[in-house]
Amino acid sequence: MKTLKIPEATIMRLSVYSRYLSEIDRKGIITISSGDIAEGVGVSPAQVRKDLAYFGEFGIRGVGYNVKDLHRHILKILGLSEGWNLALIGIGNLGLALSTYRGFKDRGFNITCIFDNNPEKVGMVINGIEVLHTDKIEEIIPQRKTQIAAITVPADAAQDVADKLVKAGIKAILNFAPVVLNVPPEIELRNVDLAVNLEVLTFNLGGRMA
Ligand code: NAD
Repeated sequence: MKTLKIPEATIMRLSVYSRYLSEIDRKGIITISSGDIAEGVGVSPAQVRKDLAYFGEFGIRGVGYNVKDLHRHILKILGLSEGWNLALIGIGNLGLALSTYRGFKDRGFNITCIFDNNPEKVGMVINGIEVLHTDKIEEIIPQRKTQIAAITVPADAAQDVADKLVKAGIKAILNFAPVVLNVPPEIELRNVDLAVNLEVLTFNLGGRMA
């Protein structure tokens, strides 16, 4: 399964399907059709079937999918069945918002450590986690078996933070700082930029109005 090249758009949709299935499961619904999933998340039934077909046959023709089984399977595909430890670096406006976002925990992401270099923030306790100085990144990240880090520091500090994280043995970085980071190729790096998404919206609006 690992050797198959799965389009990134499919992976993103799987994440959306999984959130929807979790909601459906909570409502006590046992089976669901691709049409129901499609309607629930706003894509076509054919797209749902195509996405799921990458990973083998799940559903029973005419019956649909068992909600719990499909949800469990998608979580496994997304690598979410075991949970992941997450570090947060930079506890400013964005860092604070992320650290108090309950959705991470619900999706299997467990914030294990928070770092900042501001002496006024070091020692603060957020959701039961003490903010530590960034000097401790190399010691604490392996100790708390943390594989993923979110960088929410100003752009000019982000590369230095990324270097520290790489030295600490981090496997993946979610970078919110508006800067291109240099990291070794084995590190999974994703940049998040809400402005880019807004620009996609304005492009689409512009296209529709043209
Ligand atoms: P902020 O100034 O409120 O917080 C930054 C935090 O980083 C502060 O707590 C500061 O003490 C800490 N910090 C500064 N230098 C550091 C260093 N070397 N090591 C550790 N901690 C350090 O800023 P914010 O509004 O929370 O934004 C944080 C980052 O996220 C910025 O780069 C901003 O541009 C970016 N941002 C991105 C998006 C997005 O869509 N991706 C949205 C908002 C903000």
